[in-house]
Amino acid sequence: MSEWCQNKKCPEKKTQGQIRGSKGAKYYQSNKAGWYGHWCSMGCREQWFNEHSDTCMQSVGYIDKQIIPLENAWYVEYKWNYNYQTSVSSPTYILINKLKGVQQPITREQAQTRDQIQRDHDWLTIDDTQAKELAVTLGLAS
Ligand SMILES: [Zn+2]
Repeated sequence: MSEWCQNKKCPEKKTQGQIRGSKGAKYYQSNKAGWYGHWCSMGCREQWFNEHSDTCMQSVGYIDKQIIPLENAWYVEYKWNYNYQTSVSSPTYILINKLKGVQQPITREQAQTRDQIQRDHDWLTIDDTQAKELAVTLGLAS
């Protein structure tokens, strides 16, 4: 690990904050690495990756096409529903499998874990594996 941005061209940005040294002997230096892991910015990460993508791919290895078959394509979607008659908006949850053409409204208790409900995090839902289990429970899948 290094505390410095790993893009060797980082100083070429020549920003004010990269200036160091005393008069007559000034220079630009790399930024520190930060939010973007080993780089100071998305731009530096991009530049680094463009230069080293072959090396990265050789190291990580290539994978073949990935698929999600129809029977595993379940997920839960969270939506805000606005009722124009009552002017009340409320969260709704839908169990979806587009490959099967299924869009099934479900309750909050079905859509969320106990923990998510307790924390009152409306927008969180069960993961795709749990969504499939729910589909089986509801008789939508086997
Ligand atoms: Zn940088």
